Amino acid sequence: MNFIYETQLSRVQTIEKWASPIQIKYDGNPTKEDIAVLKQIIKEFNTIDGFPGMRIVSKNENVLLIYAPEEDLPEIRQEYDLSTFDKGICRRVSENGEIKSAVIVIESDIEQAYKNSVVLHEFFHLIGFYGHSYDETSVMNREGEPLPKLSSVDTLAFEMLYHPEIKIGMAYEEMNAYYQDKETAEVLK
Ligand SMILES: [Zn+2]
Repeated sequence: MNFIYETQLSRVQTIEKWASPIQIKYDGNPTKEDIAVLKQIIKEFNTIDGFPGMRIVSKNENVLLIYAPEEDLPEIRQEYDLSTFDKGICRRVSENGEIKSAVIVIESDIEQAYKNSVVLHEFFHLIGFYGHSYDETSVMNREGEPLPKLSSVDTLAFEMLYHPEIKIGMAYEEMNAYYQDKETAEVLK
């Protein structure tokens, strides 16, 4: 719950998440490995119970994922009204707690393994974890050190956030109360 508080609820008053499938269109200059990594993230995220799912589309997208070289970033930042960022950024738009769309920008000309980890971090922002965590093993760690895979706490927090009993607009206290006397195994069933 502490992880959820740090990464979600310290930024918003009540639960925010996606309710309809995430349709991702990519643009810019992704490498072959970027696309493979993207497909791997989608596959992994789609195993989470209650998650509405994500897929790659060529039109009718609600998420635009842009891979762009450093020299193009100032222009993109202006076009999509993004704040200054380092390597990657995710800007979401939500209505009454439901995340409706987003733009993710990834600096494309950085080392591939590092970029893969940045993408995973931005995708965790995308699904509703807005903030960062003091947990050093988390992909959302605030040291800014991107990690290549979700920790067990990351996966648990993802499952807890998208649990069907956890509704959009629910207050922290209600979510806390729901999980208070549940064992991890019970949450993961
Ligand atoms: Zn971040």
